Amino acid sequence: MTRIAIIGAGMAGVSLAYTLKDHAYIVLIEKSRGVSGRIAHRRAAQVGFDHGAAYMTIRDPQFAALMAPYISAGLLQNWPQHPVRLASGTATEPKSPSPDSYAVSGAANALVKAITADHLAGIDIRLSTRARQITRHDSDAEAAWRIEIDHGTNDGSEANESPDILADWVISTAPAPQTADMMPSSANFHQQISDIPMQGCFTLMLGFDSALNTGWDAAWGDHDEPIGFIADNRTKPARDHSCSALTIHAGNQWSSDHLASDPEWVKDQMMAAVYARTGIDSQSATHIGFHRWLYANPAQPLRESFVMDTSLQLAAAGDWCLGGRVENAYLSGSALGRAIRALM
Ligand SMILES: Cc1cc2nc3c(=O)[nH]c(=O)nc-3n(C[C@H](O)[C@H](O)[C@H](O)COP(=O)(O)OP(=O)(O)OC[C@H]3O[C@@H](n4cnc5c(N)ncnc54)[C@H](O)[C@@H]3O)c2cc1C
Repeated sequence: MTRIAIIGAGMAGVSLAYTLKDHAYIVLIEKSRGVSGRIAHRRAAQVGFDHGAAYMTIRDPQFAALMAPYISAGLLQNWPQHPVRLASGTATEPKSPSPDSYAVSGAANALVKAITADHLAGIDIRLSTRARQITRHDSDAEAAWRIEIDHGTNDGSEANESPDILADWVISTAPAPQTADMMPSSANFHQQISDIPMQGCFTLMLGFDSALNTGWDAAWGDHDEPIGFIADNRTKPARDHSCSALTIHAGNQWSSDHLASDPEWVKDQMMAAVYARTGIDSQSATHIGFHRWLYANPAQPLRESFVMDTSLQLAAAGDWCLGGRVENAYLSGSALGRAIRALM
């Protein structure tokens, strides 16, 4: 059976594995200790923050079919219901809620965990396993590629001592710059993906010991400001509704402009902007967390669903192909899965 190694267990990698699982032997390689990638969640001081994707759209019919059971079960629920735009000073303007916009109950990463449990049982999933380099495996004709595994980790998880992985096909769903670093330069798409710029994003997390009655659940600022978007996780389904937990993403342009700045300075700028634009006193937060996303979303996506070198049996997919959205990551992964299936 053809052996396919998929690097990355975010929405794109999991969709790929789902599309290919009955047609090949799949190894899913993920450097973190759990699946879900940038649809991320963290708990701190009794409150939970979705600190990557806050919500997702469901528009494509195939994506809708995969998501339908999760909507029926209540794992996905319409959110936000009271969105606003930050206007001048602390004023807000209401926005229309979108009927195709959903948040995950409990924690953002519960969705990809559920898809993995429901559809990928029996698949060889290697967590805490970082692919370092993809090199030609030329000792025999058994497999085309060797994925060299980096046995160090940077998220505090225990290093995985698994040996290098051999595969006939290797697909990366890591962000474009990381994919370009791993892939052999002989891949016919190497230059194309090396040219895709990714934007950064700073995320501030503020936990409070009571509910802030702002009147909104999500608020949009601007790309070139310290506040691009705010979500109150308290208002999402199956969360602790008694305590506000704000996830604040700086605007992508503002974040990219300050990626090299001192994180403490960035944090201070964002906290001051929260007060200036919402009247919420960040200093009264009982928990303050901070995260820098180096590769948050593509500044200019590829505008093709995936890249594939059929003669070398190398390919790549991810949100950087169609745009920085969860649904686009699914569309990219599943389109590549179907294309590879058609070659088998
Ligand atoms: C701050 C922020 C806010 C966002 N808000 C929204 C939103 O509100 N709505 C929306 O739709 N989208 C949002 N997005 C975008 C959305 O999160 C992404 O489009 C989507 O999750 C991308 O999925 P993916 O599978 O392409 O990539 P990822 O989720 O990044 O998955 C790639 C995986 O590859 C792994 N990986 C990388 N390198 C290696 C390696 N060398 N070895 C092994 N594994 C590796 C990573 O750990 C990761 O799990 C947001 C993103 C960020 C960062």
